[in-house]
Amino acid sequence: MPGNLSFDDLKSRVTDGSIDTVLACFVDMQGRLMGKRFHAVNFVETSFKETHCCNYLLATDLEMATPSGYASTSWEKGYGDYVMAPDLSTLRTVPWLEGTALVLCDMLDHHTHAPVPHDPRAILKKQVARLKDLGFDAMMATELEFFLFDKSLDEIRASGFRDLTPISGYNEDYHIFQTTKEEGVMRPIRNHLFAAGLPIENSKGEAEAGQEELNIRYAPALDCADHHSIAKHAIKEIAWQNGRAASFLPKWHKDRVGSSSHVHQSLWQGDTPAFFDKDADLGMSDLMKNYMAGLIAHAPDYTFFLAPYVNSYKRFAKGTFAPTKTVWSIDNRTAGFRLCGADTKGVRVECRIGGSDLNPYLAQAAMLAAGIKGIEDKMELSPPTRGDVYEDAKAADIPQTLRAATETLRKSAFLRDAFGEDVIDHYTRCAEWEQEEFDRVVTDWEIARGFERA
Ligand code: ADP
Repeated sequence: MPGNLSFDDLKSRVTDGSIDTVLACFVDMQGRLMGKRFHAVNFVETSFKETHCCNYLLATDLEMATPSGYASTSWEKGYGDYVMAPDLSTLRTVPWLEGTALVLCDMLDHHTHAPVPHDPRAILKKQVARLKDLGFDAMMATELEFFLFDKSLDEIRASGFRDLTPISGYNEDYHIFQTTKEEGVMRPIRNHLFAAGLPIENSKGEAEAGQEELNIRYAPALDCADHHSIAKHAIKEIAWQNGRAASFLPKWHKDRVGSSSHVHQSLWQGDTPAFFDKDADLGMSDLMKNYMAGLIAHAPDYTFFLAPYVNSYKRFAKGTFAPTKTVWSIDNRTAGFRLCGADTKGVRVECRIGGSDLNPYLAQAAMLAAGIKGIEDKMELSPPTRGDVYEDAKAADIPQTLRAATETLRKSAFLRDAFGEDVIDHYTRCAEWEQEEFDRVVTDWEIARGFERA
């Protein structure tokens, strides 16, 4: 059971009055928890079976707009309902909110009760099932990097997002003294999430003023994505409770390092690490090499799922630890893919391309699909890159803009096969809309540059 509360436990806790609220949540295209707050009595009596929400929620943007161009829903179709089906195995307490529990839901068609194909959870489940058919399970870990700011979200919004002072005054990478000063926020984050059943490993200061990292122990892919979404949500809420702001915007200032979400990946057969071959160079099994070859070759196809906004691409800059090339390396942080745990049972590949704004279900599903393709086609892994990969002219580039990544997504035959035509069309529209919204805006930079001098 991935959660920490059985349905029977919940019923007893509702009877004894220690839980009065159940959050029924699904994960939207942007990776946010959305849903309803149930009175716990109603939830345990009826709504645990299913509840409903408007189907525009899987066809909207961060602003809750209703863009045209989605086949699944529109004004013409009347924006009907989806069924939200609670996955009771994910029931858990929410220790940072009084008397509250949380459950994650799958999105189903209102009439047929079939899974909605573009629901992020459904997309990941499909790739996990494909991998299972090949005889493997995926173990994943997604790192969460973010910035903490001195002021609250309300104050920052009121200032037009201009008055941005990070919680610390200097680069706090691995600093213990500086992170001690932040324990008012970070300690409850670690402890509340741990009490909610998430296997928290640690938090640490990251390589910029006010930048934090939270690590959660690796887990089966779906649990890992659930953990990530719940943790990201909790980080924002707990920072808010403490009068601070947490932001997962990948690049909030042009001169500051950006925030990423590195994804560690390995395949297993039961308790046996299928990526490990003790007799092979670096301990990498042939399976691992095929998987990595697929992952690297198809990175341009799925970059959108690692970098879904205009801002995401501002992070990909030389000399910042954020990668720009689709190559692999041995424990070298300048490449898109890094081999970790060489010659041990923990041998794994870390994808370093993803930003802190990725949707973990979509990112993991796309990478699993690429790895499966590598296994199916027995793709050959090229030798590792050495040295400063930023300066390697032969290495292939990651798409450098949202516009470029939208086109590689649109044209990706392998992703269309793996996810389904309808799903890729849906997310291509999502990517296009984000660019269209940006293109409508006149930025401060253009005005300052050209107002007088143009
Ligand atoms: P880093 O130096 O990148 O922070 P860590 O050693 O802290 O690396 O590990 C990063 C993440 O990798 C952790 O969340 C850990 O749980 C995860 N991890 C460890 N072993 C595996 C594995 N076999 N498969 C997938 N993830 C793993």
